[in-house]
Amino acid sequence: MADIEYLRSLIKEIPDFPQEGILFRDIFPIFRDPKATEMLVSHIVNHINTTIKEKIDVIVGLDARGFLFGPIVALKLNAAFVPSRKKGKLPGKTFSADFKKEYGVDSFEMQVDAIKPGQNVIIVDDLIATGGTAAAAGQLVEKSGGKLLEYIFLIELADLNGRKNLVAPAYSMITF
Ligand code: 5GP
Repeated sequence: MADIEYLRSLIKEIPDFPQEGILFRDIFPIFRDPKATEMLVSHIVNHINTTIKEKIDVIVGLDARGFLFGPIVALKLNAAFVPSRKKGKLPGKTFSADFKKEYGVDSFEMQVDAIKPGQNVIIVDDLIATGGTAAAAGQLVEKSGGKLLEYIFLIELADLNGRKNLVAPAYSMITF
């Protein structure tokens, strides 16, 4: 089975989570399977190495599931890992950007010295739906002066066309 098909087969659909009417895609079965985890990371690293000419300086992972594989990808690229965290979790001075949730507004924060001006950055997360979360993280990279080259998602919910809200190209491994 091709890598992508194998990863797709592990993603579990949970109806009515976290609320009625939502079909949640659970990616944790991938991380219970070391072979699948290796496939996921290798696919992303290979994608970056074959399609992006610039040296990647920073991988930004989004709170919380972008933290599961972002640091491994960063390590393999000899790049820094930087978290974009939910409001109030990071010590010291931070940049902040708001995004819309199902109910109300939430914010992401990033430490002001985490990305240096001019550094090449890729943002990773498990899933893009409306794109609001990823767009806010993009604003943080912009505030830091970093150069956002691409977004990489494990899953894209294509009907929602969230990528239209992003300021950089998006690559997704699996589309639903
Ligand atoms: P967006 O801002 O694009 O509408 O939502 C994307 C964010 O919500 C991501 O950070 C993602 O982790 C989370 N999310 C929304 N729906 C799902 C889902 O079905 N499965 C997973 N794993 N994450 C989801």
